[in-house]
Amino acid sequence: MKSNHYRVVITDCDHGSIEEEKREFSLIGAELILAQVREEEDLIRACKEADGLINQYALLTRKVLDGLPKCKVVSRYGVGVDSVDLKASTDLGIIVANVPDYCIDEVSNQTIAMILTLIRKTAFFDRKVKSNQWDFHSGVPIYRIHGKTLGLIGSGRIGLEVAKKISAFGVRVMAFDPYLQKPPGGIELMDFDTVLKESDFISIHCPLNESTRHLLGEKEFQKMGKKPLIINTSRGPIIDETALIGALIKGQVSGAGLDVLEKEPPDPQNPLLRMENVIISPHMSFYSEESISELKRRTAENVSTVLLGKLPKSVVNREVMGRTKAHISGN
Ligand code: NAD
Repeated sequence: MKSNHYRVVITDCDHGSIEEEKREFSLIGAELILAQVREEEDLIRACKEADGLINQYALLTRKVLDGLPKCKVVSRYGVGVDSVDLKASTDLGIIVANVPDYCIDEVSNQTIAMILTLIRKTAFFDRKVKSNQWDFHSGVPIYRIHGKTLGLIGSGRIGLEVAKKISAFGVRVMAFDPYLQKPPGGIELMDFDTVLKESDFISIHCPLNESTRHLLGEKEFQKMGKKPLIINTSRGPIIDETALIGALIKGQVSGAGLDVLEKEPPDPQNPLLRMENVIISPHMSFYSEESISELKRRTAENVSTVLLGKLPKSVVNREVMGRTKAHISGN
């Protein structure tokens, strides 16, 4: 094995233990150091002998990466890689890898849980019963889930998993996704307005970017013909929250399940916090003990894979191919 002289540094990590990562590097005999540094000079000092980095929040700028002559790979905990200067990494031959799919099960389950909680009004009745109101009439009407239509906005890894799971409830699934050519069986690809008009539940699973910021606003809520439930487990700013509050007050939508908000944590005065037909969780859809453990193991695996001369599963800067500092077999 050619690897037992390798050194890997975790720049920063707020996950508590690093046992999963240690286990992964022990398999290749690499040394693992937890630095907990965020400032440029500290990062360069702590990582200058590193063959690979694991990164969470610390900003890996061009200046930092320039100061790391041995670094061949940076692996980011999770999906987003905005902490890493991708252009500089590519220029320097550093592979940047991530783990985009560690929590598909958790986020899709959270979405289904929110739909079921809202439609069966379980959180509402729980509050009523605990304040001594044993009477289901306060929650009337409740509608059957079977036969309803779910509209997905974005149908990638999580959206497709939601579609698969909710079909077991006899729900029709339609999706708006401008980049999806051929959806799997059971999903009807529709234009945006049809999804707004015909859905009983609308669930957001597209990324946040300049074209999706405030994708659901006043105009879109007006088009919602069936007073749908709105579910957002993606990113808060995809919904114009002021417009959502207005739509809830006007009855254009009949409820909302939100794991993400425009401002996290929300202001205590945010009217969403006082609405009976709104349920909110603190941006935790990604979390389970298993998903975090998988995230940590696979983030480390990205680094060890490169150090062993292979490509990790998810390379973010594909343009680096052909110029990698690491000797990658077949590259
Ligand atoms: P993905 O990349 O697999 O799928 C995103 C889909 O959105 C793609 O199919 C893409 O074509 C589509 N899309 C892009 N722009 C669109 C637009 N303008 N309108 C409609 N669709 C559009 O991503 P994923 O793994 O399914 O994750 C989806 C989102 O979930 C992520 O972007 C992230 O913001 C969010 N997320 C949240 C949590 C959480 O804890 N709440 C955890 C993981 C992911």
